[in-house]
Amino acid sequence: MIETLRQKKKIPVAVLGATGSVGQKFIQLLDRHPWFEIAVLAASERSAGRPYGEAVNWVQESPMPGNIANMKVFASEPGFDVPLVFSALDAAAATGIEKAFAREGYMVISNARSYRQHPNVPLMIPEVNSDHLAALEHQPFGAGGIVTNPNCSTTGMVMALKPLHDLFGLEQVHVVTLQALSGAGYPGVSSLDALDNVVPFISGEEGKMESEPKKLLGRWNGQNFVEEELRISASCHRVPVLDGHMESISVKLKKKATEKQIIEAWESFRALPQELKLPTAPKQPLHYFSREHFPQPRIHRNLEKGMAVSIGRLRPCSLFDFKFSVLVHNTIRGAAGGAILNAEMLVAQKRF
Ligand code: NAP
Repeated sequence: MIETLRQKKKIPVAVLGATGSVGQKFIQLLDRHPWFEIAVLAASERSAGRPYGEAVNWVQESPMPGNIANMKVFASEPGFDVPLVFSALDAAAATGIEKAFAREGYMVISNARSYRQHPNVPLMIPEVNSDHLAALEHQPFGAGGIVTNPNCSTTGMVMALKPLHDLFGLEQVHVVTLQALSGAGYPGVSSLDALDNVVPFISGEEGKMESEPKKLLGRWNGQNFVEEELRISASCHRVPVLDGHMESISVKLKKKATEKQIIEAWESFRALPQELKLPTAPKQPLHYFSREHFPQPRIHRNLEKGMAVSIGRLRPCSLFDFKFSVLVHNTIRGAAGGAILNAEMLVAQKRF
């Protein structure tokens, strides 16, 4: 499959919400992608009609790819000659726009929360539940489809939990997050709120972290998603870090486990994206660091091009069984990179 794709022409794609924080990451990550090439950039009416270089405030650390600056930005409406649409739209806009694209026959790969809990829409991390793509056959959107990726903090947490869930069973999870500013989009939290400060509230985030893992770790029974029975309590904080969400997680397991077994489970964890050698898949999805002050956002967020999750500080928990720290790059693995990996899985499974 992968050899065939290498010889074929690339698949033209559109990026909706291309001017935002996640949209810019899509442009960065799709530059020289072996399977996909950006054919259309779209955003709101505010940006439509302008050259991308003028419409956007480019805040990425690498320069804007040369061919992108002069591309015209379109309004986010169906009518583009592409089969695949990446959506980095604001959720308020995504609900109507993503459905309209799916109805017109496009395959929509979304970052927004709008359809994550829809009864026929896969909420997917390819290393965790790529079998949920079977739900696409039951979607009510017409010729196209919608596949979503989870909230950025949920992605990091569920990737770390997946091998523990498979080997030992999960009963309860308690998580406290320290989330980066880029998670709030651009321009995001004002500097007067963010600097020298921690904000103990992120609208809607705790609910997403408590509900999305149950769908991700649950199963598709051919008709419906059956949620995993799991109790989760989440507390979310915004901290003055640019990129990279930290999470302090405590777990209660169903079966007894040792620290050695847990670390082995993380380090040996591989799944279908690694087997298929998908272009955006990290070679090793989970990296455990034994140094007691690791992981750290500035040092580890770009591990495996931002697609791996870093874990450290595994130790006994006096309330549950174990506690540990997790770090995920929120705009790469938790958003654009995760969405691109979802699209690669769809291509590999010939789903569109
Ligand atoms: P953002 O920086 O605010 O960007 C929002 C984008 O949506 C912009 O391109 C904006 O275009 C466009 N947009 C806004 N209203 C629109 C409308 N009515 N019609 C068409 N386009 C419209 O937000 P973001 O952080 O990139 O997040 C994008 C999505 O990804 C959100 O749903 C968010 O929840 C999700 N997400 C974000 C992260 C993260 O770490 N940031 C992680 C996971 C998921 P204009 O520039 O033209 O206004």
